[in-house]
Amino acid sequence: MKAAVLHQSKSPFVIEDVAIGKPGPHEVLVRTAAVGVCHSDLHFLDGAYPYPMPAVLGHEAAGVVEQVGELVRTVRPGDHVITCLSAYCGHCEHCLTGHLSLCTEPDTRRGEGEAPR
Ligand SMILES: [Zn+2]
Ligand SMILES: [Zn+2]
Repeated sequence: MKAAVLHQSKSPFVIEDVAIGKPGPHEVLVRTAAVGVCHSDLHFLDGAYPYPMPAVLGHEAAGVVEQVGELVRTVRPGDHVITCLSAYCGHCEHCLTGHLSLCTEPDTRRGEGEAPR
């Protein structure tokens, strides 16, 4: 699929083909219908928030779930969803009490040798 890819801060986006892998055990693949570019994205672009590159910005999206990882129990293909920057492990005290930004569970992150999202 085509994406606007940022290769380094303070440089133009490059429209290019990107490959999308299958979702990991705790991940969801969403067909994006609309996405916002927020102030956080502007800080990734201007370099104020250091971020691993290359990156596809736009973490505030709406769309339809296409695939779910084997351990996902909260949504299923066909569900209409919105996204946010915070990860949701679905089982820690922070996530279960609505404080997703405090989640530190390692199972929502990809390892060093794994392909990027
Ligand atoms: Zn944002
Ligand atoms: Zn959590």
